[in-house]
Amino acid sequence: MRIPCPYCGDRDSQEFVYRGDAAPVRPSDPAEETEFFDYVYLRENPAGPIDELWYHAQGCRNWITLTRDTRDHAISAARLTSEGKSA
Ligand SMILES: [Zn+2]
Repeated sequence: MRIPCPYCGDRDSQEFVYRGDAAPVRPSDPAEETEFFDYVYLRENPAGPIDELWYHAQGCRNWITLTRDTRDHAISAARLTSEGKSA
């Protein structure tokens, strides 16, 4: 799979570290135990486009948010995570 890093351009996915779904938000501190359990362990497994976090470990070392379709791995958007949702 090729990943379009916004900083480096198209790169092989082996240069990246996958960090999972970008949607979960850490609960505020102190959190209810069940709320924190859900944040740590429970994930959706949708068939379709989702936002994911990838770290370009062997490149620019930026965090990248990809919008990837889980059915066919088609990447429809890539942006630096530090730039937020709009890009
Ligand atoms: Zn990069």
